[in-house]
Amino acid sequence: MKRLLREYYIELLAVVVCLVGVAMIVIHVDFREIIVNMVHLSTSVLQNIFLSIYQGVEKYITNFTLSDLFGLIIIILAFAFIYWRVRYRILQRLRWTEHRCPKCQETVHRIHRRKTDRILSFFLGRPIRRYQCVNKECRWTGLRYSHKRSHQEDDFLASKPANGI
Ligand SMILES: [Zn+2]
Repeated sequence: MKRLLREYYIELLAVVVCLVGVAMIVIHVDFREIIVNMVHLSTSVLQNIFLSIYQGVEKYITNFTLSDLFGLIIIILAFAFIYWRVRYRILQRLRWTEHRCPKCQETVHRIHRRKTDRILSFFLGRPIRRYQCVNKECRWTGLRYSHKRSHQEDDFLASKPANGI
């Protein structure tokens, strides 16, 4: 049956279309009226939505005072300041002072970042990398950022011991 359907589906489709045509003639379905009604209904719904949005915005603008404007500016400035401070503090904490493990002073190497590290990196606007201590007993892992743009340079730095050998 399935094979038959697959083989003759165009013919079957034609038969269905034909039957629909016959039904239209016999039953006299007024498609025009149905379509007109549908269009009318959807436009009136859309009109209502747009009207309520417009009225809401209009009400908001007419009631908007100068003190509202100042309030808004202060809020934006405060947010910008908070973002700047938090960013500064996080970057200070993650900055390389020396390229060693903070726990055992061993060297560290770069490992794959987690998804959250990438998100943090995006919000801070700095390339944040994840490092791990080479000491098997320590295994410290943490985030650090560097000013280096290129990955290769960063890898080179990460693999180089801090004492310069
Ligand atoms: Zn360590």
